[in-house]
Amino acid sequence: MTESNTRTCVHCGQDDSQVPLVVFYYQGQEHRICTEHLPVLIHTPAKLTGKLPDMDKINPVDLD
Ligand SMILES: [Zn+2]
Repeated sequence: MTESNTRTCVHCGQDDSQVPLVVFYYQGQEHRICTEHLPVLIHTPAKLTGKLPDMDKINPVDLD
């Protein structure tokens, strides 16, 4: 069992008993992020550097 298989938000570490978690797949791994931090993944992925690989290379979604 690796840490990436635990049901916790990659950003804040809360589990699915505390917050709704959204499952996503990245570089062949399954991850979870809570609904509070899903916008971080979308708009400021660089903030997840160190928690997920290559986050500084992801282009943020620009709604403009
Ligand atoms: Zn979170």
